[in-house]
Amino acid sequence: MSDDQPMKGSCQCGGVTYEITGKPLAMFVCHCTQCQKLSASAYSTTMLVKLSDLHVTGEMKTWERMSDSGRRNVAYFCPDCGNRIYHLDPEAPAFARFKAGTLDNAKMPVPDAHLWVNSKQPWDEIPEGIPSYPGNLPPEEAKKLFSRNS
Ligand SMILES: [Zn+2]
Ligand SMILES: [Zn+2]
Repeated sequence: MSDDQPMKGSCQCGGVTYEITGKPLAMFVCHCTQCQKLSASAYSTTMLVKLSDLHVTGEMKTWERMSDSGRRNVAYFCPDCGNRIYHLDPEAPAFARFKAGTLDNAKMPVPDAHLWVNSKQPWDEIPEGIPSYPGNLPPEEAKKLFSRNS
């Protein structure tokens, strides 16, 4: 975990900037096909943060879809460069699933788990000792993570 508090970052064009004033609760690498599209890459990195710890400057646009696990997923992104900043489930608005690749002064935390590895690229090897799941984080694991951080 980084000692640089607050963590700071921005979208690619700099129109949207942010600070994260609290510690991230968890870090995931997601290999689902939607994350491959949104990152234009092999996976996306998602940091779970309290929405109240996330302070964004600049205007964002939103786009909503249903996630593979059947929940609403609202994506917040820069209207100019299109860079994704975070995702929010409107039914659980306390936590933002923050796109860690947009950080600029802080090292990303080491991932707690790899998700949706059933759709990961075959060359993409997960380091030993890091939990990985074929789909979403199982509810009992999610519960453990949240109790660890509360
Ligand atoms: Zn931008
Ligand atoms: Zn995903």
